Amino acid sequence: RTVLAGATGLAGFALAGAGAARAASPRVEALIGRMTIEEKAGQLSCYSDMIRPPVGDINPLVNQRNTEQILADIRAGRVGVLMNGVGVEGALRAQTAAVEQSRLKIPLLFAADVIHGFKTVYPIPLAEAASFDPDLAERTARAAALEASSYGNHWTFAPMVDVARDQRWGRGAEGSGEDVFLGEVMAQARVRGFQGRDLTAPDSLLSTAKHFAAYGAVSAGLDYNTVDISEETLREVHLPPFKAAFDAGCLAVMSAFNDINGVPATANRHLLTDILRGEWNFKGVVISDYTADQELVAHGYAADDKDAARLAILAGVDISMQSGLYSRYLPELVAQGLVPMAAVDNAVRRVLGLKEALGLFDRPYRSIDAKAQAANTATPAMRALSREAGARSIVLLRNDGGLLPLPSRGKRIALIGPFADDRDNILGPWAFFGDKSLGVDLATGIREAMADPSQLTIARGCDVENAIPGGYDQAVAAARAADLVLLAVGESQNMSGEAQSRTEIGLPRVQQQLAELVGAVGKPTVVLLRHGRALVLEGAVKAAPAVLATWFLGTETGHAVADVLFGKVNPSARLPVSFPHESGQEPYTYNHRTTGRPAPQADDSQEYKARWRTTRNEALYPFGHGLSYTSFALSDVRLSTARLAWNDKLSITVTVANTGRVAGEHVVQLYVRDRVASRTRPVRELKRFVRVALKPGERRDVRFSLERGSLMFVGDNDRWIAEPGMFDLWVANSAVDGLAASFELLGA
Ligand code: BGC
Repeated sequence: RTVLAGATGLAGFALAGAGAARAASPRVEALIGRMTIEEKAGQLSCYSDMIRPPVGDINPLVNQRNTEQILADIRAGRVGVLMNGVGVEGALRAQTAAVEQSRLKIPLLFAADVIHGFKTVYPIPLAEAASFDPDLAERTARAAALEASSYGNHWTFAPMVDVARDQRWGRGAEGSGEDVFLGEVMAQARVRGFQGRDLTAPDSLLSTAKHFAAYGAVSAGLDYNTVDISEETLREVHLPPFKAAFDAGCLAVMSAFNDINGVPATANRHLLTDILRGEWNFKGVVISDYTADQELVAHGYAADDKDAARLAILAGVDISMQSGLYSRYLPELVAQGLVPMAAVDNAVRRVLGLKEALGLFDRPYRSIDAKAQAANTATPAMRALSREAGARSIVLLRNDGGLLPLPSRGKRIALIGPFADDRDNILGPWAFFGDKSLGVDLATGIREAMADPSQLTIARGCDVENAIPGGYDQAVAAARAADLVLLAVGESQNMSGEAQSRTEIGLPRVQQQLAELVGAVGKPTVVLLRHGRALVLEGAVKAAPAVLATWFLGTETGHAVADVLFGKVNPSARLPVSFPHESGQEPYTYNHRTTGRPAPQADDSQEYKARWRTTRNEALYPFGHGLSYTSFALSDVRLSTARLAWNDKLSITVTVANTGRVAGEHVVQLYVRDRVASRTRPVRELKRFVRVALKPGERRDVRFSLERGSLMFVGDNDRWIAEPGMFDLWVANSAVDGLAASFELLGA
């Protein structure tokens, strides 16, 4: 099933496939012929340059290495990839050690976690997914690649394409939310953006689809936890964004920490070889996540470190990240006949093939250029893009009585809450290269947008998770003295990201208390949420007349928020995750299946329905939801046919009109449901979306096209199939509304 547009131009790129001992280039084959087993294992080893604070390390020896030891290892041919380094000086020293001082002179690859920017930071990927604007995601990835590559990097460990099915999981912040199709589209955009047109260009960053696989399905949303999942759900929900990334030219994949149905992903031959290489013919490299190979021991799947190395390489992991297990054990595993030399050679062939495809044998210093680094750091264009991306990622959840946009003059504003003038929580998780000093906080951005900045008062009220002496009193006084309150509440940047799962996804207690006290003052209130996941909104926050989902927007946070608050930018983003009423509904996604006991409708008292005792099982703000300062109307859905032939295309046309008074952009969404099938099907699935820009009073026809491939699901024998029969569709503004129509798919 090829979902989307085809591959980027990688003509002539020939990496070795599955078990095939297919020859790579003569240069690579000649090198393999000359390499010792230690040098081979070295090419399959990746180490951190210690810039990133170590997370969850279980091998203290590796982390005690200092730069001199790493350089000695490079000269000895024991390192193939260096990650998260410091910049051109470090890269220059390391690359010199590799290509001038090692026996075989094989260049190093420099990798880094460039997730949503480098020095200049863009919105977290989840926020950018809210833009429903793949072109924007492509442009920020391109800009991030330009900046990060000028610090010597060739490779990013991004995009994260895990579909996050539970909002308690902290790493949803790094991905594109709960939906498969949005995940596919964003994955492809980011791959194109990071890599650019030409992998050999100095500003190209090789991309990595991670974490393979089903990391977004960890039980109870607990990071690293077990995944117990049907093959159908694995293939239907979690694998497609990986396939989409590869179709767009992505040449690396990272194996996940979690186990799947009892087999850890990093020792999972079914995933890493049968599906990846066998079914998909993936030609790139597999790198393990950080010490994930060594964790096979803790999983109780490998007897010891040596056994872990054996299981990982035999499953299909080419590069071992950070544990050093390949260097330590591959030589003896091969000598003892426990790992065939051919398995090692194939992995080496893929790694060297990649270095060749990136042009590193010919230009090992291609991205090490101090001038380029200076010229490509935090340029005005990058800052402008960060601001644009920020504003386009903000979702207007609620705007009762048209409270927003605010006038730039004539109102005394109290900006209240722990994020009011805070600069420590604007970049978001996974921005450890980000330059904090460039960051624009809310107070700064809002003040700049006001005709009379003295009309703004700031009161923190409390810290993110702790009270501050006198904080509540100051906040209440500020609210009393103002005409309008901006309440900036939510999560710190450490409350999402790796190992930051939460059991409850509401506001920290001190902030809820602040919101209630300030809410009791009774001034019109705009809530500015900061968050790396969907949140549960309660009390005064839920009841506020205007609410903006502002995520973590990066360097230009304050400007981007002010642009939307004062109407310079008309918000047009949509939720990529459902906001449930209560934490206990998780895992909640819009595209759930039905039960035999459908949810109660108007009458909540009905017994024996699929219901929670305290709340209806629906979203407070559904997937796809997002308001605008204008209004849009959809009308007149027309289908090219009500009876779709097996090999035909169905086109669906709808008229979109801007019925309000300002220009705006609308995201028109197309959802489908298969009414009756040999597997129960979700109530709705997003299949297409399009952004339309309309002036006031303007109307336009929008056309979608669907074919059988978009109506498929995974049926018997793990195969994608479509079944003839009736389908419902909705042309919609969110996952729970829309104009309905139906059609029949005719048999072959
Ligand atoms: C994370 C990966 C990341 C790697 C390297 C791991 O802990 O799971 O996403 O790429 O570290 O920093």
